Amino acid sequence: MYSQFIKELIDLPDVLIQKVRKEEERWIFELSLPEQCPLCPVCLKRTIKMTGKKKQWMHGYAQRIGIFWIELPVERRRCGTCGATFSTSYPGIPPRSVATNAFQRWVAQSCIGTSIQAVARMLKLPYTTVERWFYTHAPSFLSNDIQPKAVCVDEFAFRKGHDYGVAVMDADTGEVYAIEEGKNEEAIGRALAHVSRSVQVVVSDLAPAMKRAIQEICPEATHVVDYFHVIQLFTNALERCRKYLDKGGKKHGNVRYVCRLLSQCPEKLTEE
Ligand SMILES: [Zn+2]
Repeated sequence: MYSQFIKELIDLPDVLIQKVRKEEERWIFELSLPEQCPLCPVCLKRTIKMTGKKKQWMHGYAQRIGIFWIELPVERRRCGTCGATFSTSYPGIPPRSVATNAFQRWVAQSCIGTSIQAVARMLKLPYTTVERWFYTHAPSFLSNDIQPKAVCVDEFAFRKGHDYGVAVMDADTGEVYAIEEGKNEEAIGRALAHVSRSVQVVVSDLAPAMKRAIQEICPEATHVVDYFHVIQLFTNALERCRKYLDKGGKKHGNVRYVCRLLSQCPEKLTEE
């Protein structure tokens, strides 16, 4: 009964549960595979173990326990026949990630109906990690029968500087409707195609690719430019203006004064 409970908690086929230990605040299930010789991925012949170490992955969450981890041996092995070397790996457990696929999916699912920030705080995980898992796994469980009226479209990075994606969200609720890989006009078009039947307003930044994709896929919709980006344009222009005037040098205080006036609320300004 007790071991069946742990088996279902871990829910990984074929693994053997050796024992569970607590290291500082972390509960760790020590797992292993049935004794066997992994075959060479190139020629399918017998292989020899060169080095071995243990690696841990986040795998589940329980009230009062927090995140619990699994630990599995990772071996570096060499083929006795062709000499190829490789590391042992396990299905559903990405070797370079800190968490199993099952845990990443659960975290992504937890974000729905709340926010990425709230989930990151509850699990004490970095915001960017939860965000990456959300955008990786959310597309697989997003609903198909959606008819939003107003959406935001924006690009984001799966990994900063490497893999980009385009997300389409509800402008009011922030619910994610579609995610597509890439950030060019074609990717934006693919993402918008999910909502193009019903959408009447599309909010985006000022990128020309956004404008072209919106005109192409949602020609009937009104294109609204995100106010954040408009304010950014305005402050940039103000800054350029200030630098230009600054070149005169002498009337420094005067320029500062004009800048302050320009960035005030109109209601606060007096006649002078
Ligand atoms: Zn081989």
